[in-house]
Amino acid sequence: MTKVATKTLTGPRELVDSGLVPPERLPALEQVAARYAVSLTPDMAALIDPADPRDPVARQFMPDPAELDTQPGESADPTGDDTHSPVEGVVHRYPDRVLLKLVHVCPVYCRFCFRREMVGPGRRATLSRAALDAALGYIRAHPEIWEVILTGGDPLILSARRLREVMRALAAIEHVKIVRVHSRVPVVDPDRVTAELVRALKVRGKATYVVLHANHPRELTARARAACARLVDAGIPMLSQSVLVAGVNDDAQTLGDLMRALVECRIKPYYLHHGDLAPGTAHLRTTIENGQAVMRALHGRYSGLCQPSYVLDIPGGHGKSPIGPNYLKRVRGEVGCFEIEDFNGRAHVYPPA
Ligand code: SF4
Repeated sequence: MTKVATKTLTGPRELVDSGLVPPERLPALEQVAARYAVSLTPDMAALIDPADPRDPVARQFMPDPAELDTQPGESADPTGDDTHSPVEGVVHRYPDRVLLKLVHVCPVYCRFCFRREMVGPGRRATLSRAALDAALGYIRAHPEIWEVILTGGDPLILSARRLREVMRALAAIEHVKIVRVHSRVPVVDPDRVTAELVRALKVRGKATYVVLHANHPRELTARARAACARLVDAGIPMLSQSVLVAGVNDDAQTLGDLMRALVECRIKPYYLHHGDLAPGTAHLRTTIENGQAVMRALHGRYSGLCQPSYVLDIPGGHGKSPIGPNYLKRVRGEVGCFEIEDFNGRAHVYPPA
């Protein structure tokens, strides 16, 4: 029987004791947990139906022995963060923006995480004060940096006091105009989005955006919606990013329902990430062909507000590129003449003859 979790479950033994995993699976899951961090908040545990072997929330957070099977091409740093890190905690890949990785812990650990070799207890540490000062010094010394993206780990796991310090330090840098915060907290641990935390994220003269990571419509519970509303009502625009995960959201109905739920929460869908080549995640990836088919179905059946950009992080640190379906073809031999496909799949010549 499932017990209602009142605290975060941080290992296979706790998953078994809560009734989410049958005891006979404990030894196999302990092997996985020895390699990759495990954590499940009460909000996410409450969404799991342990009787459903294909539960889409369990699939995102429950360790699976398949994770110990690393495939050729998978890499500990699939997006190449380290090759673009001039100082600890900073990734400067694109000219006008940097990632600032403040922490390497999260309230939950997603089994498909592209930073799974970097996040979790005992992995890379939270930025020390000296390292944070050096990171801020780098940002200060580079006037081309227009936007700073707080990421990790999950930056909203930090206290409001610590976040306020970081936000104020960034606000004092003239050329930084935008601070973007990437987080799963409003969904997985909504009580962390307190009035004090919301105030900490707002800084005079700069725009703060919060980008929510959510992958299944079931994650948008009443409590999660209320947490998002606290941010949006305070004037913080929200965007979303989702990972295309096999067996979780790699079909048009589920993904469309997710996008609608986000838009209903005043969150504009931003990115749909193709699964990165993180170690032991092959069972959670789908094909690019399937991703394009799902995007094509969304285009035909859901509002323009519900359309994220389907992107792939090119392995080796070469950045993201859109990989969505293409609706436009040049008509052979004719300059300026194209064939364009409508949302029903019918082709039209442009400009019309
Ligand atoms: S919340 Fe983000 S950084 Fe943390 S485990 Fe999930 S995907 Fe990785």
